[in-house]
Amino acid sequence: MTANILNGKELALSIRQNLKQQVDALTNKPCLAVVLAGDNEASKIYVKNKLKAAEEIGIETSLFLFDNDVTQAELENLVARLNEDKKINGIMLQLPLPDKIDEKAILNMISPEKDVDGFHPYNIGLLQNNSDNAVIAATPKGIIRLLENANVDFEGKNALVIGRSQIVGKPVAMLLLNKNCTVTVAHSKTKNLENLVAQADILVSACGCPKLIKGSWIKQDAIIVDVGINRIDGKLCGDVDFDSAKEKAKLITPVPGGVGPMTIAMLLENTFLAYKKQNKL
Ligand code: NDP
Repeated sequence: MTANILNGKELALSIRQNLKQQVDALTNKPCLAVVLAGDNEASKIYVKNKLKAAEEIGIETSLFLFDNDVTQAELENLVARLNEDKKINGIMLQLPLPDKIDEKAILNMISPEKDVDGFHPYNIGLLQNNSDNAVIAATPKGIIRLLENANVDFEGKNALVIGRSQIVGKPVAMLLLNKNCTVTVAHSKTKNLENLVAQADILVSACGCPKLIKGSWIKQDAIIVDVGINRIDGKLCGDVDFDSAKEKAKLITPVPGGVGPMTIAMLLENTFLAYKKQNKL
């Protein structure tokens, strides 16, 4: 039997339409500040897509561009200014920043209420506490929303997360734990990945290894979320070998059209929620 496809594009569209209606009803619009430093081509495309998506639903944007020579002080001064600016509701720092910049120091400076990426230690702590007030990073939040929308039953399920980054692996593992899954986190030093995959009822792969996970590895009727964005011969693919995995999985996200669109929708939602909180709505 072939798996059902978890269509992130469709769900993201309906979330964005719903947000647009809510933003249209506001007199003053939310405003997202986006900071792009350096000349990473992928970052430029991500920023362009985020700005376009925000503007489409009526969220105002302010773009701050710096070249590769930007200094730590320039970025810190900007963040300090944006923190104070009442017109700005959310601050998004496109990663990676140029090599010589201390990325963590700048992320930690963003006011937690304006931290729409959910990377500030305060928000990470709230997530760990399973608090409703946590701002949750867009990709992990989008993954859980996609699974909830498909009525996935989390309780007691074996969940395997491949990858332990701050932006995907760790927060998604915490969210799954908060949902009462039994969670295993694998990384580049993990042994016998294939055996762990075979036991997973829910697999979230965020390791950036093209087609690493074969259909033959996965458990019958597993739920597969493929976060990876990779290229083979210029063609986009995930961490999972989609064609073989879809024959065994119950639900599976495609790449593209799965997690990616949800990430943008959740960034917009986080900006809207930040606006509401700051305006006590
Ligand atoms: P990172 O490079 O920060 O982290 C990758 C993680 O995968 C690390 O923890 C690493 O282990 C682990 N890993 C690497 N190779 C293996 C392996 N062979 N077996 C098991 N684990 C492995 O990446 P990100 O978390 O930022 O992103 C992961 C992927 O998701 C990328 O393809 C990225 O492009 C994509 N992505 C997609 C998004 C979307 O919206 N769809 C958003 C963000 C990312 P170790 O810690 O030991 O090094």
